[in-house]
Amino acid sequence: MKCPFCKTDNDKVIDSRTVESGYVIRRRRECQGCQKRFTTYERVAEVELRVVKKDGAREPFSPDKIRHGLERALWKRPISTESVEQIIREILHEIYEVGETEISSSEIGEILIEKLMDIDHVAYIRFASVYRKFNDIHDLVEEVEPILSKSPRRNSPDSK
Ligand SMILES: [Zn+2]
Repeated sequence: MKCPFCKTDNDKVIDSRTVESGYVIRRRRECQGCQKRFTTYERVAEVELRVVKKDGAREPFSPDKIRHGLERALWKRPISTESVEQIIREILHEIYEVGETEISSSEIGEILIEKLMDIDHVAYIRFASVYRKFNDIHDLVEEVEPILSKSPRRNSPDSK
């Protein structure tokens, strides 16, 4: 790494630590030419994951779609915002583990449904019933929003 002060390309790393929850490595370096110190940041290059849809079409994977679908499924369920965030992190982690560059929409669907089954049965049923009909999670997430927002009362028969 070239020194920003004297342009010498010879430095020594004197400190290295992860920041931003482990996604970034910050390194303090000391130039061996002028002894001045400077900092570099190293981060993961953007990973492009593509979703292979049922008809073979591909589209960029969208974490936002997963988030919106999940928030809809868990709407008015007794699950804290904190838990929802945790669940989203776990789901995204699993998705990135399965698909290095491509993942099928049905694999995403299975991951989501399995996770929902663990945490909330009503959310699971909401999601699974729609999922079976469409069998394509990326389409589903778009389809599921209006359906779920129209029928919250039918899904909670516990109010007498
Ligand atoms: Zn220097």
